[in-house]
Amino acid sequence: MDKCSFCGRTKKEANLLVAGLEGHICDHCIEQAYSIMNEELGSKKNISFDTISLLKPAEIKNFLDQYVIGQDMAKKIISVAVYNHYKRLMQKSDGDDIEIEKSNIILVGETGTGKTLLARTVAKMLHVPFTIVDATVLTEAGYVGEDIESLLTRLLQNADYDVKAAEKGIVFIDEIDKIARKGDNPSITRDVSGEGVQQGLLKLLEGSIVNVPPQGGRKHPEQKMIPVDTKNVLFICGGAFEGIEKKIAQRMNTQIVGYGAAKIREKVDKDNLLKYIAPQDLRAYGLIPEIIGRLPVVTHLDPLDRKALRAILTEPKNALVKQYIKLFKMDNIELTFDDGVLEFIVDKAIEFKLGARGLRSICESIMLDAMFEMPSLGKDELMITIDYAAHKLEHIDMKVLKAS
Ligand code: ADP
Repeated sequence: MDKCSFCGRTKKEANLLVAGLEGHICDHCIEQAYSIMNEELGSKKNISFDTISLLKPAEIKNFLDQYVIGQDMAKKIISVAVYNHYKRLMQKSDGDDIEIEKSNIILVGETGTGKTLLARTVAKMLHVPFTIVDATVLTEAGYVGEDIESLLTRLLQNADYDVKAAEKGIVFIDEIDKIARKGDNPSITRDVSGEGVQQGLLKLLEGSIVNVPPQGGRKHPEQKMIPVDTKNVLFICGGAFEGIEKKIAQRMNTQIVGYGAAKIREKVDKDNLLKYIAPQDLRAYGLIPEIIGRLPVVTHLDPLDRKALRAILTEPKNALVKQYIKLFKMDNIELTFDDGVLEFIVDKAIEFKLGARGLRSICESIMLDAMFEMPSLGKDELMITIDYAAHKLEHIDMKVLKAS
């Protein structure tokens, strides 16, 4: 018979018995555990924005600089948006009817250029609950896939079900471009599911009270819904928007006409058209105007060049190379990289078009044997040379790395 694994109350004796993997807990014990937790953790968990000393935009950018290489424009725009967002949370109504509106953000840039990293770093800095969801798994209610509300389930879970904290959290919606309506003309090529998901998202983005299933999914129809107000949740959306350069070019071509047009055209950086991205381009790509309206801050990420990739290996606070050195140091082994090894790794990442994401998989392939053998060898130093690195990569199928 089912009974509480803590106090032994049976299903009949308890008002509620929640099943876990290998046991149950009753409502009495949940309540008791909750009060113990509150006593132990005190007010540590409660995020009060009156007490958060707001970092100024320049300070926010400085923080981002420690973790993210380059992407200055995106950092600047995000810093201001986040600053304004939290000022908005602190605003007291002083009768002037000026209401600061929410500044959800959309980041456009190739995969692996740091969109998620930026969002994650912002959340780290603000100490607020944060979650990443992939727009491609979201569907309209009733379709196969996850309900749109499920993204708030994850936020709630990451906030340890502290609704107040979750309501001030950050949600990063990745691959927002994948739910774009296919084709330019809404009436001819209606992509119903994509547009339906956009409509569903709209409700969340603009701020409303959403009933969230605590466990997500439809597997637990009996679960009690938790109302979550998304008015103060900051949404950061990211997408590669492959091919959007064409839309940008088209728009710019029609815009830049008349006297001086040739001169302006000359100045346009044709290799990085993304930097001219504007809301109209997102619309042309297939986001519905209402969604674009709810994502007022549009910015781009630059493609990462060789210099940036090289910097990513060593400069960020938790750069890959620093991580390996630390790992070996824990075994009292001094790890060093010979001249040119890091350039060699960058070369490989570029050669196989793996981008920043590939740096990690290349490093792992090079370091795996050493990480396996060294702890048992009793040596106190290890130098990685180009020959060693090249040898370790010889048998690796780069296509496999690409998939990882
Ligand atoms: P995206 O979301 O744009 O596809 P990510 O932010 O997930 O890309 O980047 C993948 C990984 O590549 C990150 O975890 C990080 O290690 C590295 N990376 C990408 N861009 C940068 C950058 N600008 N600075 C530092 N590291 C980066």
